Amino acid sequence: MNARTWSKVTTTITTSHFRQQFLRVVSKSKFTSIAKPLIPILHYELPSCARPKPLLRYYSNVPITTTNRNIPKFSPTSQQQKYVVHDNDATQLYKPIAFYSLIPISQERVVILRDMIESRLSELGVVGRIYLAPEEGIGGINSQMAVPLSQMTLLKKFFNDLHDDFGAISFTEGIEELKEPCFRKLRVMIKKNLVGVRKSISASDLIDPSNHHLDPASWHKQLNEKADKAFLVDMRNHYEYDMGHFEHAAKLDVDTFREGLDELQSMIKDQPDKTLYMYCTGGIRCDVTASYLRKKGINDFKMLKGGITAYGNYIKSLCNNGNDDDDENNDTTIRSLFRGKNFSFDDRRGERITDDVLTQCYQCGKSCDVLHNCANTRCHLLFVQCESCRQAMNKTCSDTCHDVLLGKEAWDVDYDYHRQIRPMDASSLSS
Ligand SMILES: [Zn+2]
Ligand SMILES: [Zn+2]
Repeated sequence: MNARTWSKVTTTITTSHFRQQFLRVVSKSKFTSIAKPLIPILHYELPSCARPKPLLRYYSNVPITTTNRNIPKFSPTSQQQKYVVHDNDATQLYKPIAFYSLIPISQERVVILRDMIESRLSELGVVGRIYLAPEEGIGGINSQMAVPLSQMTLLKKFFNDLHDDFGAISFTEGIEELKEPCFRKLRVMIKKNLVGVRKSISASDLIDPSNHHLDPASWHKQLNEKADKAFLVDMRNHYEYDMGHFEHAAKLDVDTFREGLDELQSMIKDQPDKTLYMYCTGGIRCDVTASYLRKKGINDFKMLKGGITAYGNYIKSLCNNGNDDDDENNDTTIRSLFRGKNFSFDDRRGERITDDVLTQCYQCGKSCDVLHNCANTRCHLLFVQCESCRQAMNKTCSDTCHDVLLGKEAWDVDYDYHRQIRPMDASSLSS
């Protein structure tokens, strides 16, 4: 099928009965085997010369999922309204929002929930990454999303109505409102464990960690008093710590959570008489850690409820309000104990809490805290790169990757997760 024929096809399928027409056309073509699902075809399978632009405008705010299994029933008058709403509204802003719930859910129910969530969030124009896991492992839900502000109430209502599955949900909203969503698509996936661990435990064996939680105000107060005397550990990976962390926090310097758990236990052995304070991005890693520590008979620990994201909101609310009803917190000059950026697993790669820049460009050493992935997708290294090096190096991390992109050199390095997140000499570049 040549470009001209495709052009004819795309004209046909933007007419009122496009669904039937499209299926009729593709059923005659060599693309028959990929006739489902419809939306991924439009983005991934059609030749670029033949992308049906009018159709994509209809659907431009439909999140593309890898698991869309059904072609939506299309009646242009009703469905068009549902999907084009953001196209016509240039003022639409998105808000990052996250929540998690460690809770036992059966395997069968997890599959049903996945389909329900995928369908409803697609309708709302929500994008993001949502993991579900059944009760045999560290089960429940962990979700990070970018939600059109106009749909925020409906989004919260949808998840709150699933109370029987997820319990009471505590949403943590990001600090910023975004003109562009920080995820490109919606992915709802089932995993064995919500958090990667060496030895899994079942969801029903996880303890209720609420006795160990400190809200951001109490966390701030206690750490402010203890200062460098606090036994404070950052439970995240090395590159997250490098972007920003609490003052006096110990760095685990690990690439994965499971390595961090091992490292934490040896740190506790070195400081047996001190109360451990720990934190992570949104709280889930600390909540899981709590169960592992309690299993080992370790009970003297506290953790930041809602993680750095909640602390960032707390600091921001004090700055915005200039005052607080709580007598203990009416210090208008409160200083954030967290410095730098809160790394996030989305397109932003982080949310700024303070103006401190704690890292340097991997290539020139200039002060910079913007992370990129190497443009050589086989390398994909996550590294700090300033804008001038980014241009000079054609968005790559090294001369090798630069030449690979130009086709001057072959790429013969085996895949290795650790290599993708740890530049060779990163430790010497981070402060
Ligand atoms: Zn540079
Ligand atoms: Zn590279």
